[in-house]
Amino acid sequence: MIILRSLEQSLNGENVDTYVMHDLKTDVINDVKSILEYYQALGFDSLPISSGFPVNSHIDFSESKNTMLIDLTGEIGDCQRCKLSKGRKNIVIGAGNADAKLMFIGEAPGKEEDIQGEPFVGEAGMLLTKLIEKMGFKRDSVYIANIIKCRPPMNRDPEEDEIISCRSFLDRQIDIIAPKIIITLGRIALQTLMDNDKIKITAARGTFFEYKGIPVMPTFHPAYLLRNPKDKWLTWADVQKVMERMTNSSIK
Ligand code: URA
Repeated sequence: MIILRSLEQSLNGENVDTYVMHDLKTDVINDVKSILEYYQALGFDSLPISSGFPVNSHIDFSESKNTMLIDLTGEIGDCQRCKLSKGRKNIVIGAGNADAKLMFIGEAPGKEEDIQGEPFVGEAGMLLTKLIEKMGFKRDSVYIANIIKCRPPMNRDPEEDEIISCRSFLDRQIDIIAPKIIITLGRIALQTLMDNDKIKITAARGTFFEYKGIPVMPTFHPAYLLRNPKDKWLTWADVQKVMERMTNSSIK
């Protein structure tokens, strides 16, 4: 009943508790499934839906997703959970559309990101933005995050304790945004997301993995591509598989 009331409130444009909204989509799907199974058990093979049923009504989840991302930012606060807090200028949580279908996950903020507080705004970021646009998207229509949210000194690889301290924030971002496809950039993003440090990026790139039911396409990190431009075509081939999958699954 809470779910039906929340759905009604949402359709009426009233405020709905954000946590209820978060689960609403799944709960509604499960409720509809139960109702259909019930009708099927009664012997119906179609539903007697009247023409007045609002078949095309659309619930906009982006507002509640934004609220949940803001809440997450509040929770992260002036984070002191690991040693990277000592040297950072800004915590770089993520940027983009809270309701994005496509999410990019990089490794960690670099110098420019640390200064600006936004992911992928340095040289590697410019290459990533070009790639996103070449795929036919605007940068602000996708969501971009990193495995860890603070810059490691001298851009060294993130250490295990730093990854562990930050991990739940990335998981929460993925849960909130619920992208249809994730693209991981580089070895560390892939290994961390998959929780497997044996995966080799050169072997794994171009093949879909899965994280909580979401297809994950690993590709090279743009910083690697800046150093090895001859491999750009491989990343282009990887993202074409993503575009193909989005087209085939009617993801817009
Ligand atoms: N490299 C990353 O992995 N993330 C950034 O935000 C910038 C550079």
